[in-house]
Amino acid sequence: MRLLTFEHQGSQRVGVRSGDSVVDVSRVDPDLPPDLVSLLEAGPDALAAAGEAAERGEGIDAGAVRVVAPVQEPEKILCIGLNYADHAAESNMPIPSEPVVFSKFSSTIIGPGDAIRLPSVTQSVDYEVELVVVIGTAGKDISESDAMDHVAGYTVGHDVSARDFQLEKPGGQWLLGKTFETFAPLGPDVVTPDEAGDPHNLGIRCILNGETVQDSNTAQLIFRVDQLIAYLSRVITLQPGDLIFTGTPPGVGMARDPQLWLKAGDTVVCEVDGIGRLENPVVSG
Ligand code: ZN
Repeated sequence: MRLLTFEHQGSQRVGVRSGDSVVDVSRVDPDLPPDLVSLLEAGPDALAAAGEAAERGEGIDAGAVRVVAPVQEPEKILCIGLNYADHAAESNMPIPSEPVVFSKFSSTIIGPGDAIRLPSVTQSVDYEVELVVVIGTAGKDISESDAMDHVAGYTVGHDVSARDFQLEKPGGQWLLGKTFETFAPLGPDVVTPDEAGDPHNLGIRCILNGETVQDSNTAQLIFRVDQLIAYLSRVITLQPGDLIFTGTPPGVGMARDPQLWLKAGDTVVCEVDGIGRLENPVVSG
C-alpha cells in the first residue's frame, strides 16, 4: 500500500494511492484517523481497514491534489552518516565500526515540489538521496530479529547538507549543517513493507538538472535497516512516525573535482526504485 498526505479544502488528509488516483480513506471510513501518524499509531488493523477503504472508495485524480510531506512533525528524525562503503571512501572517512548518528529538526521537512532554500550564510550546500524508514510501532531495546515488525514503510528523503557548517566549523557542526529549514525534502509516498519488497535491494539515485549524480543500490548499505533499528533503540524509544534517514551513496558534490554545490535554479530529483520519485527546485534565501 502507498500511503500519503495531501491537502484538500484547506486541511491535510491521509490518502492511499492506487495508480493515478488517491482515495481519502478517512472519508470513506470515518473510524479511521485523518492523519498518517495517527493511522500508524492505530496499528495494523487500522492499516488493513485503510486498505479496504481504498478499494471501495472513489479516487481523486492524483494530479489534482497537492501532495505534501507524508510525515510533517515526527518526534525524531534520526540520520545515519557514512552508511555506504563507497561514500565513506569518497569522503576520506574510515568505514565506521558502529553507525554514525546525527539528527535534523522537523522544521527541515518539506514536501514534493517545495523549494529548497539556500541560506546566505553557507556557500557549499550539497545533495544526498536517501532511503528513509518510517517507524510504525513504538519500541525500546528492539532486537534485530524483531526490528522489521516496527517498520511502517519506506519513503524517499533528501538529506540536504551545508558542508562548510558540517565539516569546517569548530568541532564539526553536523547538526547545524544538516538542519537549515527546507533541508529535508520527504515523500511523496510511504510504501508499506509488503509492497516495497526487500529494502536492501533497491536502486537509488539522485539526478541534478537532468544529470545522474548518484547511482547505487541499497544493497551497499553498511548497516541494514534491522541493525539500525536495534542500535538506535538501545538509546532511544522509537515512536510511530519517527524517521530514519539511512545514509547516502557515493557521488555527492563535496567529493567531486571540482566540487559541485547546489545553486538557485537547480532541480533535484531523488529516486528509490519502487518507493518513489521526489523532485524539488532550489531557490536562494
Ligand atoms: Zn545523509
